[in-house]
Amino acid sequence: MARMVTYNARSAKPHPETAHLSGIDVLALMRDQELEQIVALNDPATGLSGFVVIHDTTRGPAIGGCRLWSYPTADAALEDAIRLAVAMTRKCALAGLNAGGGKGVLIDHAGIKDRAGMLRAMGRYVESFGGRFYTSGDLGLSGADIARMRETSRYVAVPDDRKLDLAGATAWGVLGGMRATLAAAGLGRSLQGRRVVVQGLGAMGARVAALLVKEGATVIAADTDAAVAERVASSTGARLVAPEDVWDQAADLFCPCATSGVLTSETAARLRVRGVVGAANNQLDAPEVDAELMRRGVLYAPDYAVNSGAITLTAREFLERRSDLRDIAALGERVEETVTRIFETSARTGNPPQQVADRLADDALVRPRSTERQFWPLR
Ligand code: NAD
Repeated sequence: MARMVTYNARSAKPHPETAHLSGIDVLALMRDQELEQIVALNDPATGLSGFVVIHDTTRGPAIGGCRLWSYPTADAALEDAIRLAVAMTRKCALAGLNAGGGKGVLIDHAGIKDRAGMLRAMGRYVESFGGRFYTSGDLGLSGADIARMRETSRYVAVPDDRKLDLAGATAWGVLGGMRATLAAAGLGRSLQGRRVVVQGLGAMGARVAALLVKEGATVIAADTDAAVAERVASSTGARLVAPEDVWDQAADLFCPCATSGVLTSETAARLRVRGVVGAANNQLDAPEVDAELMRRGVLYAPDYAVNSGAITLTAREFLERRSDLRDIAALGERVEETVTRIFETSARTGNPPQQVADRLADDALVRPRSTERQFWPLR
């Protein structure tokens, strides 16, 4: 896989007139990142502005959420969409799904005149892919927003529509990843009597903490929202620590369930655990932290190998129209197998685990690519 584009979105809301593609050679970028398609979005009547990026549909239609975010430039929005679409391809490939990676990025700006109309316009764009791109919500879009998009497209999944608990499914996968990591550390796969530090106690962290306690583990936890922390502590018996102290706790595992980019050179140096396994997306602040953790003897279970529970259920519901509860337990086993394979390969080759996972995911695209790459929906 070619060089990754990285971007940290922040800052004020520009009007798209002030944003610009400042010298990106789009076709060179597409070649470099092996992208199938970039669609620029524009609906002046409502203020819709942004991109859909389809990275790779070798394994099936592209799946990926849509986010509404304030970007300083159109370049930044496009780069974010590309980075996220590539990550979705890898997540789907590693989870063995017949799906590829895509992402929708809507630019949040002062010129949005009609939010509901903008979302319906976005739905029409999604519909125009004819089943090559399936989407749902992500940062900046609520369940109600996604429902608006659904009004104009069959290829939008509204989170509240689903019978199944997506965060619950992801939590089962996190537990599977923990078993694999403990085993790779020579501690056996049982969670009984293990100590786990959980960072963030929202939808994911709360579920992981509850499952861990049920398995007989001790949970040390933190959340920047004191009320959330107290609520989870009283329901699970987790011991609370200050959010800035999570790094210094002596434990078996560290479990990031808060935000992206939490594993930096500095935080990695403070960890006193055998492994890192969590639900948060894009945990590594920079690719080199993967190797730094390895040098320090900390097993890092690559985030997208661990947190694929929600996308797996979504893909099954969308593409195979099946979803039953037995799959949730099987999901944990599947993640355990994948993470075990990653650590075995890492130990054999000496390559850090995230690098191994990227390679495994990219290899899963090679065979089909030799015949036909682009997914085209049946009519
Ligand atoms: P959430 O918003 O429900 O919970 C995040 C929690 O982290 C909040 O309670 C917040 O107060 C806390 N937090 C933020 N910064 C913190 C810090 N520095 N220290 C301690 N706590 C902090 O989000 P979620 O749905 O639980 O998702 C958590 C992560 O898991 C995200 O990265 C998300 O992308 C990823 N993820 C979620 C799902 C899912 O189904 N919910 C699936 C896959 C991946």
